[in-house]
Amino acid sequence: MGDADGDETGAGAEPAATGAAVPEGGEPVCWLERVCPECGRLADTAPPVRCARCGTPLTG
Ligand SMILES: [Zn+2]
Repeated sequence: MGDADGDETGAGAEPAATGAAVPEGGEPVCWLERVCPECGRLADTAPPVRCARCGTPLTG
């Protein structure tokens, strides 16, 4: 990506490629909220939840 500069083909393919590469756009945000800022542990459930390792509250 970024190879074709200013071409309408490249501009048109960009949003299409993004949609094809990442069909589930909301998924990364969901699990990012579960990552503990203190120790980096991924919580088993969605916030609000307390980190099982260090006890840091994840508010989301
Ligand atoms: Zn933690």
